[in-house]
Amino acid sequence: MPECACGCGEETKRAKFLAGHDQKLRKQQENAAGGLLLLSSLVKATQMYAQNRMSLEDLGRLVKLIYQKN
Ligand SMILES: [Zn+2]
Repeated sequence: MPECACGCGEETKRAKFLAGHDQKLRKQQENAAGGLLLLSSLVKATQMYAQNRMSLEDLGRLVKLIYQKN
């Protein structure tokens, strides 16, 4: 049996998540980043890095700034 992808440790039948646990993971990630806007900033920064529009040094600096706001 596959394990729920949210990290709760419970088993699912075939789905990646138990019912409602995708929302649970979404909220956990939002909280870990310090809110939806900071999570959005993290995603944008990693996209820019992946598209070679940001240096690794600038990405690291931005990630540290974002997590310092927590
Ligand atoms: Zn779960």
